[in-house]
Amino acid sequence: PLGTRPLLKAEGLGVRFGQVVALQDVDLVVPEGTVMGLIGPNGAGKSTLTDALSGFIKNAAGTVTLDGRRLDGQPVHRRSAAGLRRTFQQDRVPTGLTVGAYLRFAAHRSVSHDELEEVRAFLGCAPAKAHVLDLDVGSRRLLEVAAAILARPKLIVLDEPAAGLAHAESLALADRLIEVPAKYGASVLLIEHDLDMVRRACATIVVLDAGAVIAEGPPAEVLARPEVARAYLGD
Ligand code: ADP
Ligand code: MG
Repeated sequence: PLGTRPLLKAEGLGVRFGQVVALQDVDLVVPEGTVMGLIGPNGAGKSTLTDALSGFIKNAAGTVTLDGRRLDGQPVHRRSAAGLRRTFQQDRVPTGLTVGAYLRFAAHRSVSHDELEEVRAFLGCAPAKAHVLDLDVGSRRLLEVAAAILARPKLIVLDEPAAGLAHAESLALADRLIEVPAKYGASVLLIEHDLDMVRRACATIVVLDAGAVIAEGPPAEVLARPEVARAYLGD
């Protein structure tokens, strides 16, 4: 059944930046067919974890296995070819393209017109002929999610995709993400600051604090734990 087989398995992940320990001995399992949440206060190590999983940080400690294949030590393009796709917290969509041209370029595979239109409409992205330059930040972020889906990966890691979206738009995106595993065959690891979005989209969440996992489980239960509330205090 969906949601039982481990798709991504990371064990003992560690990253240091000089004296700063950004991640320490992190274990993470993303089951197949699910949208899993990763939350934590600013500086907890969420983006570092994304970088370590996807190979943007080289020489991270620990192992990363996707669908039974070892990815640690592999360069970004290998991990991406193996089915791991990530988006960036900072908007990286080039402004000189149309929406359609960007999606074709960023999908890293050849996509048909129908496929492109289907995913574009599914996420409510701007029309293919629109210019990226004319879009607001939120609409650009959606394009990254669309490109990730079009790449047909096994796992999509979204680093705060709702930054720049209005609250209602974030919830609408959550509703779309729930459909992604069954509709497109990709699991989702959703890194998000908006806890309402996480509650809506995720059956399970993992909480990072100061580079370590401090809690894991259903959102309602995890978010009620005192150590999780404490981690968010002063954030
Ligand atoms: P999050 O995404 O949860 O907000 P980050 O992964 O961006 O957290 O950062 C985790 C920690 O690592 C923070 O203390 C941050 O300052 C530090 N850090 C992140 N990237 C770098 C870097 N390139 N060089 C030095 N320190 C970094
Ligand atoms: Mg971050």
